[in-house]
Amino acid sequence: MSVLAPVHAELGGMFPVSGETARFPHFAFGSRVGPCPRIPSESEYEMAASKPRTVIVLAACGFLLAGLGYASPSSASPGSSDSTGTDGCSAGARTLAQPGSHLYPEVGNGGYTSVHTLVHMVYDADTNTFLTGNQVVLTQRATQCLTNFSLDFERRSNNAAEGPNMAVQSVTVNGRAARFRFAQPAYPGDANGPDDPNPAAREASQTNPAGGPDHNPLPPACTPQLLSDKASARHSLNGTQCPANKLVITPAQPIRDRANFEVKVNYTGRPGVHNDGDGGREGWWRTPNGGFVITEPIGTQAWMPLNNYPTAKPTYDFSDTVTAGRTVVANGVLGSVRHNRPDNQFPGGSVTWNWRSTAPIASYLVENSVGKFHLTERTADNGTRYYVGQDASISAERQKENLAIMNEHQDITEYESLFTGAYPFASNGVFVGTPKVGDQMEMQTMIVFDNSRIDTSTFYHENMHQWWGDNVGESSIEMTFFKEGMAVVSEMLFAARKAEAKAGGPQSKKGQAAFQASLVKQFDRIYRSKGKFWTVAPSNPDAFNLFDDSNTYNRPGAAYIALRQILGSTNFTQALQQIQRAYGGGTITEPQLEAAFAHWLPVQTGTCRARLSQFFRQWFDTAYPAGGGKDRPQLTGPGLTGPGFYSAGGGCA
Ligand SMILES: [Zn+2]
Repeated sequence: MSVLAPVHAELGGMFPVSGETARFPHFAFGSRVGPCPRIPSESEYEMAASKPRTVIVLAACGFLLAGLGYASPSSASPGSSDSTGTDGCSAGARTLAQPGSHLYPEVGNGGYTSVHTLVHMVYDADTNTFLTGNQVVLTQRATQCLTNFSLDFERRSNNAAEGPNMAVQSVTVNGRAARFRFAQPAYPGDANGPDDPNPAAREASQTNPAGGPDHNPLPPACTPQLLSDKASARHSLNGTQCPANKLVITPAQPIRDRANFEVKVNYTGRPGVHNDGDGGREGWWRTPNGGFVITEPIGTQAWMPLNNYPTAKPTYDFSDTVTAGRTVVANGVLGSVRHNRPDNQFPGGSVTWNWRSTAPIASYLVENSVGKFHLTERTADNGTRYYVGQDASISAERQKENLAIMNEHQDITEYESLFTGAYPFASNGVFVGTPKVGDQMEMQTMIVFDNSRIDTSTFYHENMHQWWGDNVGESSIEMTFFKEGMAVVSEMLFAARKAEAKAGGPQSKKGQAAFQASLVKQFDRIYRSKGKFWTVAPSNPDAFNLFDDSNTYNRPGAAYIALRQILGSTNFTQALQQIQRAYGGGTITEPQLEAAFAHWLPVQTGTCRARLSQFFRQWFDTAYPAGGGKDRPQLTGPGLTGPGFYSAGGGCA
């Protein structure tokens, strides 16, 4: 995500495609599953040209799942409470946050992993309503014998105007009706279990302990849904009861350990936005012709039920039937568009858009916007599919300005891949919508910009996330800084690239010197920061400051630049590419990230490794008193302001 002010819009189109285009020898189109039918490589989807296209039968490729299974009937315990079981069967955990976490502790669900999700939306875009037949089909794999399990789903919100208002009609597990209910979360680590009868175990708070009206000593069970982003609102909902957004599903029989099982949730009503712990809103934004989806950190649950934690990364199919004349923009590759005759629900006809992502997608990166859009597609010479979309209501002049920047997508992708390795996905896309959300986002393979405009620097930022955050995901919401820092590095690279071009280009000594000087200057500018800049540890924010520039963006960004100086630019790039290879498609923890960089430390002595650990503690994990100066990280890197890293002799003694 980026909440940075757009400042480079005027520079769009300044840089022609480099002659040093990166090639991707290891890239195989659609290699994760297959074989899938191909659609024509050069095609255009304009709603004006509503020619029916060939329908691809999605069931014909990939995702054939074996082993759908229940536990043997002997292990079932009919009539028992749904949070206890027999024969080692029990309820799945109702959070994936660490015990004591105060950063969205309510999200995530255990006892299973998320394998694949089919979003089967039936959506009236004129009334912004999910109609009968609207459902998600979640293929999951049990990691224990399960008597019941949960999903995250926000049917209703305290934001009456823009929040969701939905209802679940039915749930089936492996085709059989299942019982379901909505429950409040309990705090992560609650020894009394997810249905702890103590109301104090279910309080919202920014901080740990929850505090609350009776000085509740327990950790919070959820992050407050603030209706205002004013600082005075920060603690206004601490101690209030958490909403019942856990959809607890009890199958007819327990599900045996390691079995794949299919959960179908039918629901209808109005999707909406989730009010975050910083007063921001994310989720499904109403537009005059449909909806605009932008969801970090947990807004996806305001339009669909899911395992809403960043480590849950199923693959996705979208088969969205919407009002005729509307376009759906989702993740992955567009497989087909089918025009349907009028029926009871769509008297004017409907259209079904089928998108597919064979790459796994984290909970907050699922894109599914609907409206009157201009959408085009082309295939680059290396096989990557590029999508460009804009809301048709944006003025022609603005669309033209936006397009000049959007057309740089391949160049930006290839430039960033020089640092961070081959582009990891089969497609890439960018979409500009109209709502004034106040941020832009790295939805996987479909970057979204709000407020009808795009700017180049933020485009670099969101595109860098395709590697950092999307392909290599965060292991918890506390790790947001790791991928935002890398996205800030890409903005710094963009500024350095401009300086390099001005000084003679990448082949000239002057150009190369200007590139390096620009990075040093950008580091020094951040390192000079005073006031409260260093007072929040990037790895331990609360929800209110999770997306603050200082702790989540600029400080980790500067840390990576210092790390590049410590490791040397070649080793730094090697480290980035190795992390992509090792953790791509999954997630990374902070110790794993730090170990991966330590591997590329050029001086592999015990003292230098210890100093690097100290460097990470200072930059990522320390909350300093206000002021800066001595109250900020003291270890920097060679050539930067500050004491540097190595001793005079080149070691770390
Ligand atoms: Zn970002």
